[in-house]
Amino acid sequence: MGRLVMKFGGTSVANIERIRNVARHVKREVDAGHDVAVVVSAMAGKTNELVEWCRDVSPMHDAREYDAVVASGEQVTAGLLAIALQTIGIQARSWQGWQIPIRTSDAHASARILEIDGAELATRFKERKEVAVIAGFQGITPQTGRITTLGRGGSDTSAVAIAAAIHADRCDIYTDVDGVYTTDPRVVPKARRLDRIAFEDMLELASQGAKVLQVRSVELGMVHNMPIFVRSSFDKPEDIDPHATPPGTLICSEEEIMENHVVTGIAFSKDEAQISVRQIEDKPGVAASIFGPLAEANINVDMIVQNVSEDGATTDLTFTVPASDYRRARDTITAAKSKIGYARIDSATDVAKVSVIGSGMRSHAGVAAKAFAALAARNINIRAITTSEIKFSVLIDAAYTELAVRTLHTLYGLDQA
Ligand code: ADP
Ligand code: ASP
Ligand code: MG
Repeated sequence: MGRLVMKFGGTSVANIERIRNVARHVKREVDAGHDVAVVVSAMAGKTNELVEWCRDVSPMHDAREYDAVVASGEQVTAGLLAIALQTIGIQARSWQGWQIPIRTSDAHASARILEIDGAELATRFKERKEVAVIAGFQGITPQTGRITTLGRGGSDTSAVAIAAAIHADRCDIYTDVDGVYTTDPRVVPKARRLDRIAFEDMLELASQGAKVLQVRSVELGMVHNMPIFVRSSFDKPEDIDPHATPPGTLICSEEEIMENHVVTGIAFSKDEAQISVRQIEDKPGVAASIFGPLAEANINVDMIVQNVSEDGATTDLTFTVPASDYRRARDTITAAKSKIGYARIDSATDVAKVSVIGSGMRSHAGVAAKAFAALAARNINIRAITTSEIKFSVLIDAAYTELAVRTLHTLYGLDQA
């Protein structure tokens, strides 16, 4: 007997029939003798609709009210799943973030979980064998007592945080694919499912755009050494033996991984914008005069490329920001023009970042060089490059994203046979 967290994403709870299917998955684990906490997302498309509604009312809406609106999707699915469970004879109770409580920071729309009190859930497991059905994505900030949300995809983070709080043996993430693949299987049909992936590699994949897990959930898994198992909710619940290992991907510590490839996977993101500041003076303090105001405006700068000055007087500086921050970033640089001193700004929003990830790169040279040659052979122009110990990224025209991903996937031997 053990203790499990089972998290179900939007497509897994997309309608009443799918919610009944989830209830049967939960029943299987309860019947096997486990204590179960379930974390649910809103029905597929619901959060997008709620976000749209806020924008429709006012593009400059109050973040506290945005959270009050968008947190409602999860409240509905938690209640419905509790009813579906009760209907098939399973004791269940729904919980919203404030009821547990899941305490978060006060950064509305992108709050971080600070603390979860798992005591009441544990008591109910023991005394009533009651399944806890928890609304994902939401919490409460102690400062004001108001509802917060954790950023898009945040139910993954709710699930791993709950798993740590109740000392679960494992956190199962049920989704619409049966595991983590070498790249998005919807884009590259030859992508291969990984049996295991190290937290470090998964962290990079997630932060470079693989949306199968929210970045913060992987961080929490790593900190608490909580095994995360990504699997499909689309397998028939009754066909699964709760004591066998189903198809899926275990995210675990590096020591538990047997086979070690140099490249683990490829991620991509079209949510990028490139800004080039032309003919800035090549003198100390210039980078600070550009990136200081951007940091103050809470804009995350990712890739940075500065040319070596040719004439010793001026140079160009290129960087990327999330597409959603592009306007604000441009405005921020324009507002600081007299302080920075530059000739003009060039920018592009139809760009994409493709990242090759693998902790095996630490001990292998020349991994990136191979990619540059392969992309050149396909006539794909590289606008910017960044590298770190276990990954490198290239910025390219968005139109070439799929071609670049497929080319690199084959190049590094990731295609399935
Ligand atoms: P959920 O609603 O269950 O949270 P998401 O849509 O957030 O599901 O995440 C699952 C999706 O992530 C998949 O449908 C897939 O298209 C995408 N994805 C991107 N990269 C990967 C990858 N490397 N492995 C698996 N899925 C990936
Ligand atoms: N429903 C939220 C979203 O769509 C949270 C989640 O699904 O993880 O972002
Ligand atoms: Mg998700």
